[in-house]
Amino acid sequence: MLIVQKYGGTSLQDAGRVRTAARRITGLAQQGAQVVVVVSAQGDMTDKLIEKAAQLNRRGSAREMDAYLAAGEQMSAGLMTMAIGAFGYAAVSLTGGQAGIHTDGVHGNARILRVEPERIQKELAEGKVVVVAGFQGVDPEGDITTLGRGGSDTTAVALAAALHADRCQIFTDVDGVFDRDPRIYPDATRFGRIGYDKMLSLIENGAQVLHDRSVELARDHGIPIEVLSAFTGNPGTIVG
Ligand code: ASP
Ligand code: MG
Repeated sequence: MLIVQKYGGTSLQDAGRVRTAARRITGLAQQGAQVVVVVSAQGDMTDKLIEKAAQLNRRGSAREMDAYLAAGEQMSAGLMTMAIGAFGYAAVSLTGGQAGIHTDGVHGNARILRVEPERIQKELAEGKVVVVAGFQGVDPEGDITTLGRGGSDTTAVALAAALHADRCQIFTDVDGVFDRDPRIYPDATRFGRIGYDKMLSLIENGAQVLHDRSVELARDHGIPIEVLSAFTGNPGTIVG
């Protein structure tokens, strides 16, 4: 059983939340699953980093912004790997480039061209949990790229496809996909299952629960995405 799990910023906001996720991950590893974890930057780190950069240069180069913003996800990957280690499990963190995610050179909104999963497979074969920094890849020049805001979802689906994962789970701060934002409308209703095209039209109408390219990629590869809460243990939504 190979599982890809992605944790978003709110699910990693502080040490307690990283530990909660690490406990779930090591539980799966203990049951014999191979686990690949994709992490976003903690909390609203990416927004904060963008603000900081703007204090110095409002029109900084897109290449430099990518190298800089990708660090948010890399810090999360390091912290998650250490949290898993504290539970006595072997884990290794990888940048997007180390994980074999090759993109075009469109800085700030790069597209994944191909995934070379050999390094991940080698680490899994050695019994490690593999923690991949989301939202990033490497372009043909060898430069760091980012996949657009919310792009860690796309990292997770691309890895699930390349690794032929049995499951692709996206952990978030709500219990799945709703007809309206449940953080604003308490009477919003949750979809138990939703098709790819319906999901894409929700995103077009402003839903932020998934990155649009992650849904397109899942549709193209026939991969069901499970969207579920990192906090409640409630059933989520199957997209696909
Ligand atoms: N940290 C990035 C963002 O805030 C990517 C992600 O969370 O998926 O957009
Ligand atoms: Mg998101």
